[in-house]
Amino acid sequence: MTTTAAAPIARIHRVRAALRAEEIDAILLGPSADFRYLTGYETMPMERLTMLVLPAEGEARIVTPAFEASLAPAGLGIEVDGWAETADPLARVVDALPRGVRRVAAGDQLDAMFLVPLQTRLDADWVLGSTVMRPLRMIKDADEIAALADAAAAVDRAVARAAELLRPGITEREIAAELDRAIRDEGHEQTDFTDIGSGPNGASPHHSFSDRAIEPGDPVVIDIGGRMASGYRSDITRTFAAGDPGEEFLELYAVLEAAQAAGRRAVRPGATCESVDAACRDVIAQAGYGDAFIHRTGHGIGLDVHEDPYIVEGNRLPLEPGMAFSIEPGIYLPGRFGARIEDIVVVTDDGVRELNAADRSLVGAD
Ligand code: ZN
Ligand code: ZN
Ligand code: ZN
Repeated sequence: MTTTAAAPIARIHRVRAALRAEEIDAILLGPSADFRYLTGYETMPMERLTMLVLPAEGEARIVTPAFEASLAPAGLGIEVDGWAETADPLARVVDALPRGVRRVAAGDQLDAMFLVPLQTRLDADWVLGSTVMRPLRMIKDADEIAALADAAAAVDRAVARAAELLRPGITEREIAAELDRAIRDEGHEQTDFTDIGSGPNGASPHHSFSDRAIEPGDPVVIDIGGRMASGYRSDITRTFAAGDPGEEFLELYAVLEAAQAAGRRAVRPGATCESVDAACRDVIAQAGYGDAFIHRTGHGIGLDVHEDPYIVEGNRLPLEPGMAFSIEPGIYLPGRFGARIEDIVVVTDDGVRELNAADRSLVGAD
């Protein structure tokens, strides 16, 4: 997806409207998904200040190192203020704000090294940027959904390669290296993570990878994802087996498949986030594994791999068309093994669109 100026300009208008509605005078964003969402510009957080200063009314400005000013996005009606190496960039930020600002939103990812000194220089009330950014970013437009679908298709192809790799003797690290290459070969610009949890390591949901060699019959939890050139992310988990994992694991896996399917079926406009979590959790609890499902069911995904909405008990937010998130229940038995199945879904006008199509069955369990 090439970023045309049209989407950022429309988004900037909507953020300004949201700032006025919330009686916030301006928002400050450092390099982050929020920044990219509004400008199309991907840049790294650094000790050198780059900041978008977007007031509710009046001129928007990007304050950035002078030698990077030519990289800043043009054609959005945003002034670019390049500061020289010896300048005081925080003074330029203060200068870019309207006089007498009373309430200022700071992007949730704005570095404390900039925010804390700004808070002493500006006599203002501070609010979190997500107050205005969350409602916008949570509802994906057609281009964003297409970008997420491309990412999902690419990671589907990458995860399928695990089936050929899995054999007793290969290490988690070797699988991770091969899948890192596969993620990029299949169209991602970068790999974000390759979590390979074999045998007992699979019982730790965020185990990355180790030098442990796969043993015959091991279940292996593989959770991988990356970023496409569009900026949009993929995230998928499939559980494999290196031969026969035994009767108990097969029963557990059947419970997990049913739970994950129940979660996908629960997605429709108006259903709450927590009801999707409950749909997964009830199936697992009824089978006696309730205490072994130790994390929330899912997270939103977009320009960030984890973003709103969160699919968790207590989140009564109703689902709306355009929301995109993971459904990833897991069952973990410490010291023994674990299993998880994760897909990305999008809420449609009348139900759900499943973006991942990779085989969910326990491949390799023969
Ligand atoms: Zn996770
Ligand atoms: Zn994942
Ligand atoms: Zn995830």
